[in-house]
Amino acid sequence: RDLEAEKELELIADYFEGLAEDAGVHLRTTGHAQLRADAELFRRAVNNLLANALRYTPRGGEINLIAEESPDSVRVTVANQGTPIPPELLERVFDRFYRVDPSRKRGTETGTAGSTGLGLAIVRTIMDLHGGQAHAESDTVSTRFILTFPKSFPTSSHSPSSRP
Ligand code: ATP
Ligand code: MG
Repeated sequence: RDLEAEKELELIADYFEGLAEDAGVHLRTTGHAQLRADAELFRRAVNNLLANALRYTPRGGEINLIAEESPDSVRVTVANQGTPIPPELLERVFDRFYRVDPSRKRGTETGTAGSTGLGLAIVRTIMDLHGGQAHAESDTVSTRFILTFPKSFPTSSHSPSSRP
């Protein structure tokens, strides 16, 4: 199904607005793109990224939700200010149950569900299902989780000539 990426991002951002306000974090949505994705799974993926971003953005910081379209793909980025993820851990964070610093979890004191280290593994699975990719970049400016959706979605139907 075709989704208006920025519309979806705005809906998800609205959902997090109260939490962001409490955390003193500014949420911003920019860009324009249309992508082919399962709406439910798309929301779950962005939701997981945004929940992380909110957890690691200091008070007064900013989170950007960005939709970008290029000729062959659509990129959805969740970028947040905060302590960078060391380069050697940028792939490991996608592993099931992996957490960079388990003692840093804020789950208990904020009353939100404790973290299990599954969020990003789920994001990657969702991107695999869409024939896309999920990867992370991090430096002193921001930490960015980037979802890349191919424009030519792999379909199960083949051209009639390829059938016996
Ligand atoms: P869950 O999502 O299951 O509640 P979790 O958030 O700990 O638990 P993941 O979402 O898979 O698990 O993230 C794995 C780890 O990656 C986190 O524990 C954290 O150490 C690191 N991480 C994820 N997002 C960020 C971010 N935006 N900034 C810094 N570190 C991050
Ligand atoms: Mg998480």
